[in-house]
Amino acid sequence: MRIVVLAGGIGGARFLRGLKRAVPDADITVIGNTGDDIHLFGLKVCPDLDTVMYTLGDGINEEQGWGRADETFHLKEELAAYGVGPDWFGLGDRDFATHIVRTQMLGAGYPLSAVTEALCDRWKPGVRLIPMSDDRVETHVAVTLPDTGSAGGSGERKVIHFQEYWVRLRASVPAEAVVPVGAEQAKPAPGVLEAIAEADVVLFPPSNPVVSVGTILAVPGIREAIADAGVPVVGLSPIVGDAPVRGMADKVLAAVGVESTAAAVAEHYGSGLLDGWLVDTVDAAVVERVEAAGIRCRAVPLMMTDLEATVRMAREALALAEEVRAS
Ligand code: GDP
Ligand code: CA
Repeated sequence: MRIVVLAGGIGGARFLRGLKRAVPDADITVIGNTGDDIHLFGLKVCPDLDTVMYTLGDGINEEQGWGRADETFHLKEELAAYGVGPDWFGLGDRDFATHIVRTQMLGAGYPLSAVTEALCDRWKPGVRLIPMSDDRVETHVAVTLPDTGSAGGSGERKVIHFQEYWVRLRASVPAEAVVPVGAEQAKPAPGVLEAIAEADVVLFPPSNPVVSVGTILAVPGIREAIADAGVPVVGLSPIVGDAPVRGMADKVLAAVGVESTAAAVAEHYGSGLLDGWLVDTVDAAVVERVEAAGIRCRAVPLMMTDLEATVRMAREALALAEEVRAS
């Protein structure tokens, strides 16, 4: 079975671990979000690709969900001693090596897809990990910063990098707009459209619908390829009980005018794209609403508390895909 998964960071990576275990013989291609990418200290950092790579390669910091296990932060401390920031983005010593290798290879002319393949030679994630695009796409967020002055005027409207919004500000101010800068001009990376065309099923893991899956779908050609592939497309809700399980997805959903409910996210993807949608059992009451929108829906436990629970989620997603195929 050939499975294509559109993945962000933590939610995508953890789901993939369960999927791999559920169908060990499947041929899994992961199309990774690169809208979170940022240049720091002259280095190209790809947080979502690395989270998938480290998680599936057993190098992840389990508790945190991102970054390397057994990490130290000497380099960051030394940079801070020189007054060189930013200090709000946690790059550890082990992690730095990945970004140095990546930046060197990009500088030598290799596209990001080839660099990612080379990095995966070490990590052996057991899936084919392809960035959504080799072209630079960076998500930005429009915000109005609170007025810290004493004059009492209105705050300053600014467009900031997604990581500044997410990591530095912890999404503490409303996101007024979310823009995947560069996406319109970006081309799908080599292998992306081919993998979709050859897939037996396409899965949207419980990744952020706006800044992870939404960004991947914003690369011209990808959404169309999925809609035209003629294979079941099944997603799992990252929203459980009207709130994100983890993180601040509600903030970026609000920016695109979508309420933070499992049903609203399904409708946001729409029946033109999505054939099946899994919601958590606590949201069983919305199944009817999702089905009324033309999307086959089931309520099953959706908390990735451990590997076994995640394996069951992956099996449910594939079972729903089979139901769609048979219908
Ligand atoms: P990020 O790039 O690290 O933010 O990760 P993703 O975009 O892949 O996934 C983030 C989403 O995963 C968040 O919106 C969470 O609500 C969701 N998520 C995290 N853990 C779980 C879980 O156990 N179950 C479900 N259903 N969603 C989860
Ligand atoms: Ca991310």
